[in-house]
Amino acid sequence: MKFGNYECYSVEMGRFSLDGGPMFGVVPKALWEKKIAADNKNLIQLTTRSLLIKGEGRTILVDTGLGNKFSEKLKKIYKIDEGSTDIDLALAKYELTCSDITDVIITHLHFDHTGGSTSIKEGKTVPTFPNATYYLQKDHWESAIKPNAGDAASYMKEDFMPLEEYGVLRLIKGQKELFKGIDIIVTQGHTRGQQHPLVKGKTNSLFFCADLIPTSAHLPYSWRMAYDNYPVTIVSEKEKFLNRALKEKWILFFEHDPDIVAASIRQDKKNIVTDKKINI
Ligand SMILES: [Zn+2]
Repeated sequence: MKFGNYECYSVEMGRFSLDGGPMFGVVPKALWEKKIAADNKNLIQLTTRSLLIKGEGRTILVDTGLGNKFSEKLKKIYKIDEGSTDIDLALAKYELTCSDITDVIITHLHFDHTGGSTSIKEGKTVPTFPNATYYLQKDHWESAIKPNAGDAASYMKEDFMPLEEYGVLRLIKGQKELFKGIDIIVTQGHTRGQQHPLVKGKTNSLFFCADLIPTSAHLPYSWRMAYDNYPVTIVSEKEKFLNRALKEKWILFFEHDPDIVAASIRQDKKNIVTDKKINI
């Protein structure tokens, strides 16, 4: 699908599972399980879906999925579907290899967003995309290298410290136009300095929700995750950006939704809801 001068494609980077309880925070199970079913251990299956943006001489990847560095123990805990996390295979669908990626926009450094940023080659952990510059918000980097106790389990240093060692990390500050026609929007509710690309088109723009709205079930303002570091902030950010999305006809791209890749939205009585599902 085209937005401005860019072709956009979704890339499936691997499936895993999380407990449905923290995924929906204070929302009772009786309500959330109507949207996403849980198994007998209360786990719900999620996807890690990256966005590929091609145009203006660049091949950009937004987030890098789970990657392949998990221990057997963690693979079990997160029910990582191993056959689904092969980045070479995921890119081959678009006749691309890791060397073709020129830029990687990382929304934030939680392992389900940046696990694929590095890989183990000949015993060394190296950047997966050898020719890419990786972009991250500076204040997010600072909070990730010294995480608070509540958030620490979501960071795995081997996913991001090698990016700094190899000199491929570019830390950016705040909202800006990163590339012609691609704006970076910053939110502070899920983590400090989560960034979201907005690919601008004439009639519609494509917004990468990341963990501001991880699945289409999280559209109601108060349906937030227990993983959000700043709950009050995220609720007001969702209200602000969803209303802007409605006004500016954004299409929302859902990184973790097991079924819905992207959707247009409309105002229902109380909430903003999905209108048309869109396969990108
Ligand atoms: Zn996530």
